Amino acid sequence: MKILVTGAAGFIGSAFVRHAIKKSDQVVIIDKLTYAGHMENLEGLIDGTNVVFEQGDIADDNFIASVFKKYELDCVANFAAESHVDNSIHSPREFIETNIIGTFTLLDNSRKYWMNLSEEKKKSFRYLQVSTDEVYGTLGDSGKFHEELPYQPNSPYSASKASADHLVRAWHHTYGLPTITTNCSNNYGPRQYPEKLIPVMITKALQEEKLPVYGNGGNVRDWIHVEDHASGVYLALTRGIPGETYCFGGNSERRNLDVVNAICAQLDKISPRANGKSYSDLISFVQDRAGHDWRYAIDDSKAQAKLGFERQYQSFEDGLAATIDWYLKNTQWCKQVLSKKEAQ
Ligand code: NAD
Repeated sequence: MKILVTGAAGFIGSAFVRHAIKKSDQVVIIDKLTYAGHMENLEGLIDGTNVVFEQGDIADDNFIASVFKKYELDCVANFAAESHVDNSIHSPREFIETNIIGTFTLLDNSRKYWMNLSEEKKKSFRYLQVSTDEVYGTLGDSGKFHEELPYQPNSPYSASKASADHLVRAWHHTYGLPTITTNCSNNYGPRQYPEKLIPVMITKALQEEKLPVYGNGGNVRDWIHVEDHASGVYLALTRGIPGETYCFGGNSERRNLDVVNAICAQLDKISPRANGKSYSDLISFVQDRAGHDWRYAIDDSKAQAKLGFERQYQSFEDGLAATIDWYLKNTQWCKQVLSKKEAQ
């Protein structure tokens, strides 16, 4: 297949490109290279033939039209997004522009391209939207999100993702575009920009900075390894039924404070502090995030039954230890990606 992958200089998109290359697919990458997008994440992957890169904005209609004109594409996987809830609270506009207008622009160019394909190619074409479990809102202490639940987004980020998902649904329902939507829980693993919980805590701890934990640290997230998410998206793209949505989770619900303590305990073991104290001494409780969702959990039995989805990372603690190792070995990567934001 020749897959158009947007946002592939980011955390999950770059993992997906690695997965697709292993399956011998060709990839056309689009990325705007915002503060969160880095060519370092694609190191060794772009060869100008099987994997090519085009810098641009998914909300730029002329740019997207030119990409559809230039390449014979079999499918689109849209990972490009503004993805950090805290940023969406302070600066929501970028979220509306990229996540909603960008998705609309991609969808409508996909539709125009798809309408002119042969009947056979029309049937096999796919537009896949990578979305989040946050569109379902928040859970109490029990229950899990699943595909049949109504959307109840609470943050500007999740509302923008939910809006995009509704557009995807409408382009399928109204125009017949073969779309698929995936909703996934919190990802962790190598190359995650140090603004999300796990890489923030690792990088701050190593710099002897305070480890800020929202509220009392009791909020619960379900953690999936990024490679498991990438394999799930690939299965949805290749085996999913147009018009359907598929949820993916890690079956690893943890309280935020427990995740931070697990990071501290692992660092105490493999990279002890000079002063002999535990990294957990650096934990500092800070004012809770506005509108902070309490708990997320995913029932991904549909993806398991219909797509044959299986997680390779069964133990969150093993995956976390490997992730911490990666950050310890890649301090240069951290410096490079963080310096870009400082320069902006
Ligand atoms: P990320 O922030 O690491 O990467 C986003 C990428 O998109 C970056 O490379 C950035 O440069 C690019 N981008 C941003 N705006 C763009 C634009 N207008 N045009 C082109 N490129 C643009 O994000 P991520 O964590 O890899 O998330 C990827 C997708 O997965 C997002 O759609 C996100 O909503 C979804 N998702 C993320 C998680 C998670 O835990 N990180 C969980 C579920 C779903």
